[in-house]
Amino acid sequence: MYNPKSMVAEEFISHEEILETLEYAEKHKADAALIQQIIEKAKERRGLSHREAMVLLDCGIEEKNQQIYALAEQIKKDFYGNRIVMFAPLYLSNYCINGCVYCPYHLKNKHIARKKLSQEDIRREVIALQDMGHKRLALETGEDPVNNPIEYVLESIKTIYSIKHKNGAIRRVNVNIAATTVENYRKLKEAGIGTYILFQETYNKESYEKLHPTGPKHNYAYHTEAMDRAMEGGIDDVGIGVLFGLELYRYEFAGLLMHAEHLEAVHGVGPHTISVPRIRHADDIDADSFDNGIDDDIFAKLVACIRIAVPYTGMIISTRESRQCRERVLHLGISQISGASRTSVGGYQTPEPEEENSAQFDVSDNRSLDEVVNWLMRLGYIPSFCTACYREGRTGDRFMSLCKSGQIQNCCHPNALMTLKEYLVDYASEDTRRIGERLIAEEIEKVPREKNREIARHNLAEIEKGKRDFRF
Ligand code: SF4
Ligand code: SF4
Repeated sequence: MYNPKSMVAEEFISHEEILETLEYAEKHKADAALIQQIIEKAKERRGLSHREAMVLLDCGIEEKNQQIYALAEQIKKDFYGNRIVMFAPLYLSNYCINGCVYCPYHLKNKHIARKKLSQEDIRREVIALQDMGHKRLALETGEDPVNNPIEYVLESIKTIYSIKHKNGAIRRVNVNIAATTVENYRKLKEAGIGTYILFQETYNKESYEKLHPTGPKHNYAYHTEAMDRAMEGGIDDVGIGVLFGLELYRYEFAGLLMHAEHLEAVHGVGPHTISVPRIRHADDIDADSFDNGIDDDIFAKLVACIRIAVPYTGMIISTRESRQCRERVLHLGISQISGASRTSVGGYQTPEPEEENSAQFDVSDNRSLDEVVNWLMRLGYIPSFCTACYREGRTGDRFMSLCKSGQIQNCCHPNALMTLKEYLVDYASEDTRRIGERLIAEEIEKVPREKNREIARHNLAEIEKGKRDFRF
């Protein structure tokens, strides 16, 4: 029985409800009146139910689809402006006891190089990341209680926050580790993590069990209910996602939105972010052997419909996607992207020789952070290194009230410009700096509140003189 308030995985992600939703959307995909009604509701910016959003995803009327894309773009502009938050993943260890069939870190892969960073290695990696200009990391590890126990993750977080190299600092560490206990989530919270990220991979229980044949991750309920335990442990920013390509994308789309509805219904706050990775080639993984791959058109539609359905939820795209694909979906709703990522263990400080490959997937976008920042600005975006909310304690519902109060433009916008300024002064190439300074001069005028505009101007001048870390 479908119940978004239930704490039982199969009740808040009800298979029957998803099937009925898919059938309903299929039946109404050419129902112009209903589609228009849903678009009108979406224009109120309060989101849509999974059923309504599904009808938009399936919509086969070209003219209505154009309206859907235009609305997604408008919502993106209203909530996120032209800012794009930058981050990088940091792989700590690829030891893993699970058997996920789509990931080269699975236990049976005897061919891949297994690596685990020592605290000294982490220092070197973090310094390399700081020297690029990164301020926000996403930590990744495989699941292995012997090699990567929670104590190792906690110690690593402490190490990362402690490193201050030149003007560099990692100001927000998001964590992507396996589903764990309330007690461990509490420890992560105390260690000062930003978002806890865990991808569902697929919401279809039957497929899930086949794709995860061995190891603790095989337990669908334990994995699906992880975000509830994380929230019980005090983490109020959680990031969800599926790996598109494993199951039918329509099924996953409904599941994702039902998960968001569940978190909102039970905890009063939906997911902080949704990630939209697509399956990629990697060591012993052939992405083409999965039947449910989606093309760039469907991918763009998914991004647009997620943007409309959950306007307050950030959306993340990684370097799994090519420059062209990233360019296509940025304006439809993406709010965070990674740049200059290495998906191997220890890949930042020293690039890996080919015979020692430890990467989780092949990167499609291989550009440096400076190139990505430059490209974003040329497209009219403001690359932002902002971490202010987390550091001001604006997490969970406090973050949501910032979004809903309409103060985003007075907070995020100057924060983006001040952190971009830091980047330009400390790390940018000459060309990037030139473009960036011009952009800041134009964009500072768009901060609506005069007082904030004045403070930001003053702070920008102070950054030039060597001061750092201003925020609203
Ligand atoms: S997806 Fe995660 S749990 Fe599965 S094999 Fe890869 S690292 Fe391990
Ligand atoms: S002020 Fe908060 S919401 Fe805005 S960009 Fe910074 S961290 Fe994100």
